[in-house]
Amino acid sequence: MGFMKNFTLGIWMLFLCAMGTQGALKVASLHPLLSDMARQIGGDQVEVVNLFPDNGELHAFEPTAADVAAAAGAELVLACGKGIEPYLEDLRDSLPARTRIVDLGAAVPEVYLPGSRIADPHWWNSPAAMKRASRALRAALEQAAPARKTTFAKGQRTYSAQMDTLTREAKLAFTAIPMEKRTLVCSHAAMSHFCDAFGFSAIAVHGIAQESEGDTASLARVLANLRAKAVPCLFYGVNESPKVLQTIADQVGAKALPLVLDGINPSTPTYAELFRFNVKNIVDGLTR
Ligand SMILES: [Zn+2]
Repeated sequence: MGFMKNFTLGIWMLFLCAMGTQGALKVASLHPLLSDMARQIGGDQVEVVNLFPDNGELHAFEPTAADVAAAAGAELVLACGKGIEPYLEDLRDSLPARTRIVDLGAAVPEVYLPGSRIADPHWWNSPAAMKRASRALRAALEQAAPARKTTFAKGQRTYSAQMDTLTREAKLAFTAIPMEKRTLVCSHAAMSHFCDAFGFSAIAVHGIAQESEGDTASLARVLANLRAKAVPCLFYGVNESPKVLQTIADQVGAKALPLVLDGINPSTPTYAELFRFNVKNIVDGLTR
């Protein structure tokens, strides 16, 4: 009996070891939306380690020593690229050679900030860009774990179809907004990819925004522009203080609503939720 018991235990141990060697592919991510993308494409074949803190500020984030250690244990580290992670080179130097940093933004064409030659790094605000990035992610996952190719291909097809659905939904919702009202004024210049995808224009508010990029437009000129266009609503980042933007909105008789600009909002953890939140507020704000 003792032998049988040990034998059975031995079989179980072998089985568990085999499971261990086929365990999920470990993927670390520097942005919650990339974590979401990896989970949706990889399903239970990937273990996603989200390095970005829940209420973190995208433009101020730097990985801690613990984050670097967690990234070092992963096969892949997913990055937004386009300059969003100024620490990326240092991170690469601290990681073992087998850990590959995958710059998903490299799969997305540049879109420039209004009136400038500065590329807008906030590419996730366009579902078409997310679709491009999802193809690059699938290719990276396949390369790291070729045996799971079928799972990744299926996951990416589903993800892609979801991005198409979101695009169609948004285009339909935006038919409610008259052409002359399709202007987005945001607290920081983050919607160029979105505007490019959906036929909106953006008013540059550099200098009065929280991030100052490019030429500083004078406040007076911005105010005159907003009044001339009778812009009904201005938008502030959901994780920013609305104070500055609200002051401007009051001066031009507009209201102010939040948008998820940096892709970080714990109450809309998936891309679909985040994107629908933005579409709803844009329609609400610009159709009054
Ligand atoms: Zn931003």
